[in-house]
Amino acid sequence: MDINKIRNDFPVLRSNPKLAYLDSAAMALKPDCVIDAVDDYYRRLGVNVHRGVYQLSYMATDLYEEARSTIAKFIGAEFDNVVFTRGASASLNLVAMSYGMTFVNEGDEVITTELEHHSSHMPWINVCKVKGATLKYVPLDSDGRITVEAFKKVLTNKTKVVAITHVSNVMGYVTPIKEIIKLAHEVGAVVSLDGAQSVPHMKIDVKELDCDFLSFSGHKLCGPTGIGVLYGKKDLLEKMPPIEFGGDMADTVYTHEMTFKMAPYKFETGTPMIASAIGLAKACQYLESIGLDEISKHEYYLKSLAVEGLKKIPGITIYNPTAETGIISFNIDGVHPHDAASVFDNDRVCIRAGHHCAQLITRHLGTIGTVRASFYLYNTEEDVQVFVEAVKDAKNFFG
Ligand code: PLP
Repeated sequence: MDINKIRNDFPVLRSNPKLAYLDSAAMALKPDCVIDAVDDYYRRLGVNVHRGVYQLSYMATDLYEEARSTIAKFIGAEFDNVVFTRGASASLNLVAMSYGMTFVNEGDEVITTELEHHSSHMPWINVCKVKGATLKYVPLDSDGRITVEAFKKVLTNKTKVVAITHVSNVMGYVTPIKEIIKLAHEVGAVVSLDGAQSVPHMKIDVKELDCDFLSFSGHKLCGPTGIGVLYGKKDLLEKMPPIEFGGDMADTVYTHEMTFKMAPYKFETGTPMIASAIGLAKACQYLESIGLDEISKHEYYLKSLAVEGLKKIPGITIYNPTAETGIISFNIDGVHPHDAASVFDNDRVCIRAGHHCAQLITRHLGTIGTVRASFYLYNTEEDVQVFVEAVKDAKNFFG
């Protein structure tokens, strides 16, 4: 990977060459090609899709639907497996509000974990409360990992849904998901996989994983904000009811009756985020042109360098030194994570602090929050050095 060339694709890095942007797990920066694709739609077309009976609208519809196919291909799916949503949270909620509210009943069990982001976990607290089902948690091992053995302990014939993260946004651990999906299917359960932190960073093939649902956001994979994807198996999407009603998703409407379009369109109510979908497709092509395997290796390399650097500083607790991805969670002993992160800002290091919308795992770690650094394709060894120096500065500052 030619990192200098890659960095040159990102206007924020061109205009802030000294910035160590280590918050890509929250949001990735955007390359020119994505910004240009969004700009091109607004400048050249700027009209609605699906409805207009004129050339510009046909062209916008083509671009929008081509974007769906490109994104589907990116995860090894077909175009009609892809529902556009406004982000991973909306996708995860769609599964719970539609599939969960319809097919989970009193006495059933749903399995989730303490590693979940709130958007993967909270929708199922809601479903289980409303439907009288039981929410069970996979016990984490001493490193805070989900293991197949622990999953087997909570899986029963009553399990209807497994709502689970592919990569934790706090610990950066990769869940042994293929085995878990296989076991879940053996008892007839469906698996809703939170891919918000995996799809941007590793090659994903939904057919190989055999997951039933996969949710992710565009903004974490160098795409625009306000767009996300729910991948669903066709038979499941077909039997799920829509959760929003109105324009574009309707087929026929009478005074007391209505029918809907086929999936995925029955889940897409109203005017869609056309420009964002087009931008997201461009982001997928951009990442593919660099290579997802190369990107994963690069992030892991930088994370390992950073862990080595942090280990040399006394008084630092690293919670996930063995993570397989580009995420480090740590604390400076005795210093509130928010205080630490604001000192890093003085050194032009952008970093996240807090519970990262995953209170269960921070509580499990026995802390109110962590400082999190996350690496992506545009980060460099120099960013790692600046980061490690900033941690030393913060340590000295707080004594
Ligand atoms: N799941 C995980 C693991 C995340 O890291 C995030 C965002 O940080 C989400 C879900 C929610 O994504 P969004 O805020 O884009 O809806």
